[in-house]
Amino acid sequence: MVYIILHEKNQLKQEKDKLRFQLRRCLECGSYTLKDNCTKCEHSTKSVHPAKFSPDDKYLRYRIAEK
Ligand SMILES: [Zn+2]
Repeated sequence: MVYIILHEKNQLKQEKDKLRFQLRRCLECGSYTLKDNCTKCEHSTKSVHPAKFSPDDKYLRYRIAEK
């Protein structure tokens, strides 16, 4: 993963949003990862579409806890 040094807080936020966009979920065990394959069971992962998620982090945690 490439990290870019950002000085503007606004840019930092955008970078965070980009990371969230890259969040992927394992189709097999439901684990969240940024990789194309699950780090636990090595099954393929599917991109989590941000439109289904609230911008609020709490909601994302809720979704994870749900599993
Ligand atoms: Zn998995």
